[in-house]
Amino acid sequence: MNSYKKILADTKKILSFHRSIGIEKIPLTQGLRDFLALPIKSPQPVPVQKKPQKVELPDPEPTLPKSTGTISEIRAEIGDCTRCSLHQGRTSILFGRGSVKAKLFIVGEWPNRLDDQSGEIFSGEEGEMLDKMLTHVLNMSRDEVYLSSIIKCRVPDDAHPDSQQIRSCTPFLLNQLAVVKPEIICAMGPLAAQTLLKTNKPLIRLRGHFHEVNGTPLMPTFHPSYLIKNPEMKKAAMQDLQMIRQKLGL
Ligand code: SF4
Repeated sequence: MNSYKKILADTKKILSFHRSIGIEKIPLTQGLRDFLALPIKSPQPVPVQKKPQKVELPDPEPTLPKSTGTISEIRAEIGDCTRCSLHQGRTSILFGRGSVKAKLFIVGEWPNRLDDQSGEIFSGEEGEMLDKMLTHVLNMSRDEVYLSSIIKCRVPDDAHPDSQQIRSCTPFLLNQLAVVKPEIICAMGPLAAQTLLKTNKPLIRLRGHFHEVNGTPLMPTFHPSYLIKNPEMKKAAMQDLQMIRQKLGL
């Protein structure tokens, strides 16, 4: 691939990704103006996705387990779960961790390979990013919040959970939320926000203001893994966390 084709392929990849998270306009900065003003010998249109990618949602009303019980009872109910096909590729069930009296409940999307191997939710680089977000903006450690995710078993690299897997696993999270009764939920990543809010709206339109889930305020924001790849979005994520801090009266 010559360098011109490579630039086009990389641009297409970036545009498609931005479309998938709902960014439809890119500000025309001076740098971009200068770049566009460069002479190009054989310009070709860059194909982009017409619509943002849609996340497969669970049924409008996910089935709640019969009783909420305690956190230990919810874990016991999951057992050595085989309710969906993701059990085949997992080493650990990443149930969740933190204080059951937490004011803030952080919901991620699904465990990655490293989480699965270490048995620790939000591990590695993602975990470091999350810890920095918590300490720098909220002055909290991960032990003071509750961390869990929509899906509790590792999803194969580059795959996305399907609607059956989301439908099977979400009730456990809803039950955890019912037991912890946080003052605020922070949904990190499109799957977390869209599943809890039962919407297909892109994260970029959901973040930046509070929503409500069963009477509890919910702030959608970017997932730490996304911020690692897109550091320019850290400022927006910090603004979301600052709104949480204000609401918590910290
Ligand atoms: S992802 Fe959830 S529902 Fe599926 S096997 Fe794991 S714990 Fe069970």
